[in-house]
Amino acid sequence: MDSRLTDEYRATRAGQLAAEILGKCVHCGFCTATCPTYQLLGDELDGPRGRIYLIKQVLEGQPVTARTRLHLDRCLSCRACETTCPSGVDYAHLLDIGRQVVEAKLQRPLREALPRALLKAVLPRPALFGPAVALGRALKPLLPSALADKLPSVAERRPWPETDRHPRRMLALAGCVQSALAPNINAATARVLDRLGIALFEEKKAGCCGALRQHLDDPAAACDDIRRNIDAWWPHVAAGIEAIVVTASGCGVQVRDYGHLLADDAGYAAKAQTISALCRDPSEVVAGEAARLGELLVPAERGKLAFHSPCTLQHGLKIRGVVEPLLQAAGYTLTPVADAHLCCGSAGTYALLQPALAKRLRDNKLTALNGGGPAAIATANIGCLTHLQGGSAIPVRHWIELMDEALT
Ligand code: SF4
Ligand code: SF4
Repeated sequence: MDSRLTDEYRATRAGQLAAEILGKCVHCGFCTATCPTYQLLGDELDGPRGRIYLIKQVLEGQPVTARTRLHLDRCLSCRACETTCPSGVDYAHLLDIGRQVVEAKLQRPLREALPRALLKAVLPRPALFGPAVALGRALKPLLPSALADKLPSVAERRPWPETDRHPRRMLALAGCVQSALAPNINAATARVLDRLGIALFEEKKAGCCGALRQHLDDPAAACDDIRRNIDAWWPHVAAGIEAIVVTASGCGVQVRDYGHLLADDAGYAAKAQTISALCRDPSEVVAGEAARLGELLVPAERGKLAFHSPCTLQHGLKIRGVVEPLLQAAGYTLTPVADAHLCCGSAGTYALLQPALAKRLRDNKLTALNGGGPAAIATANIGCLTHLQGGSAIPVRHWIELMDEALT
């Protein structure tokens, strides 16, 4: 796809990257078939090819309208289109560029700007979000269902093992939302890795991975989050940690992108590349210890389970077919899930900002997940977990918690 970017963008790194990405798109439309919003809305502009055209038009100087922004806002950033695209179009980075240009050119009405500002201010700060969650749980019966659904009940928090008993050491991202909603996920990961001979620890000075502000079109604030995490982690990197384990696949995608996001920051670019290279999903770590895991697992029949692979795991991190055999080895019988490539509608803050579309996607996803009659659902991302649990009659768990229980 040829593009004629205006002078305003042609000389910038973002503009050059956008032109490069646009140049790869051959308009074939294969991506449209697997786009969840196109499937729901049937409008070309609510599919990847239409959105690519919209971004191209904006970068070529055509007026930015509320409709342009609406179609970009409706995108889940699920990246199913990237998996389908035969030309290797880097849609996610193009969307980031397009959204940031649109945000800069067109002021949002207060009814849109206010909730976005509130989400950006509260969600990445555990000191604010933690008490808000506690208050929300206390007032749950009084909250609107769209909000009450997002609050999981308090899960049992099992102890974190000693962090100094193995020479092999890995760092865990404590994060923001997950640490308040489901702190047992990182603790479960630490217990599983402990059994595999790896010490896992958190660095409390690190915080939100930056994805929340990145996806709410505040790249400067996102880069501040990233630099703070790099500063917090760097002494541990220098001391020789093997990996940075990120148990929410949505955050994992962001940490793996640090090198790209800080490529222009002379003081941090090299460190950001190193951090990205160290980033691991827990499934990669556990699958890499298959022999030891096999010795530890006791044969057992644990029942039927449906696995929901988050978009950030399968399309973002491109990790496919890794968690499922681990769960099977732990004794679970996995049930078939139709259209497993489709998003559940969670998508970071999407479920809060686009609740009607998110609910339709969740209903479709739960129908698919329940098709094989499972007793529970497993997933790999806190956003999917809370979103699905809000509409599910059966428990939704992080798969690492199930592995932890199988090993104890
Ligand atoms: S990221 Fe997902 S919702 Fe957005 S265009 Fe691609 S497939 Fe569609
Ligand atoms: S599948 Fe790839 S090349 Fe084809 S229209 Fe979609 S983004 Fe462009």
